[in-house]
Amino acid sequence: MISSHDQLAILAALPHSFEETIRPHLPAASALAPCALSTLQLNIGKRCNQSCRHCHVGASPLRTETMSREIMDDCLQVIAATDEIKTVDITGGAPEMNDNFSYLVQACKNLGKHVIDRCNLTILEEPGYGHLGAFLAEQGVEIMASLPYFRKSYTDRQRGAGVFEKSIRALQKLNRLGYGTELPLNLIYNPSGIYLSSSQALLESEFRNNLKEAYGIDFNHLYCINNLPLDGFLQALLKLDKLTPYMDMLKTAFNPCTLDGLMCRYQLSVSYDGYLYDCDFNQMLDLKIMPAPHIREFSLDRIMSRKIRTMNHCFGCTAGSGSSCGGELVLKKGVLT
Ligand code: SF4
Ligand code: SF4
Repeated sequence: MISSHDQLAILAALPHSFEETIRPHLPAASALAPCALSTLQLNIGKRCNQSCRHCHVGASPLRTETMSREIMDDCLQVIAATDEIKTVDITGGAPEMNDNFSYLVQACKNLGKHVIDRCNLTILEEPGYGHLGAFLAEQGVEIMASLPYFRKSYTDRQRGAGVFEKSIRALQKLNRLGYGTELPLNLIYNPSGIYLSSSQALLESEFRNNLKEAYGIDFNHLYCINNLPLDGFLQALLKLDKLTPYMDMLKTAFNPCTLDGLMCRYQLSVSYDGYLYDCDFNQMLDLKIMPAPHIREFSLDRIMSRKIRTMNHCFGCTAGSGSSCGGELVLKKGVLT
């Protein structure tokens, strides 16, 4: 694992400059600024039942960092007091492994918020978690499920032996509970190599046809996320001596049409210990928002007047059709390359 300090030093030493690249596309003399705060993303722990090669969180079964009930209650206070926040997006690690996961989901639903669970699917097949699918369905939680591909060999290579079969069983179970038809079930895809994904619409239709035909699986949408040069993926790039070519590719594919939709302009990310970040990626680099970087110091006015902390990893969000936790940001016709 590379420390956030070392990752920052590596990104800063690259001959690319995200700030210079976006400057001509922003209002004179301004930095990237927030537009709204519609989503609060809570990263409630780094523990995961898997340890994938490209994980940008560095999650694994050995990680112990987890959001306490106390910090969760601090977050809930902010969520309750801030009408602007419509969605609570719960992530990890495997967020379901936090002992207070159900408490958090229920409390957010009681506050009338839309809740998203970023689920790796295999957790639903682990001993002790079999009840979770029914609980999520009962609460009307949207599931964003990561599935590297619709073929076993590719998925198991990226995530470990047996992951594909477990994921398929979990998806079939979710379908039986109404997910993919009455309840929202979306799939997340990210490329495993040093390239951008092909068109989201095209991949969605490939996934849909293959999963339906082979396993009878239904889902609503497929979202594509670019790999950002962070943590596990950064390590892999360094090992293969491919960091500079990867960054060159991201920079060449820079698309100014993505700037309006960047997720950091609409959401805030909270770490397990209550610190605030522009996004999950900045959280991994420990680039806290400034000033007042803790949930206990939350003030909507301050949040909306902050400057978003950008660096070279941000090229991953602006390449091609753009990338966010909700997939592409613009249609392919907006791409300049
Ligand atoms: S399942 Fe997700 S959070 Fe867990 S190790 Fe893999 S990429 Fe990371
Ligand atoms: S990584 Fe992406 S979402 Fe995060 S600050 Fe950079 S552009 Fe915004």
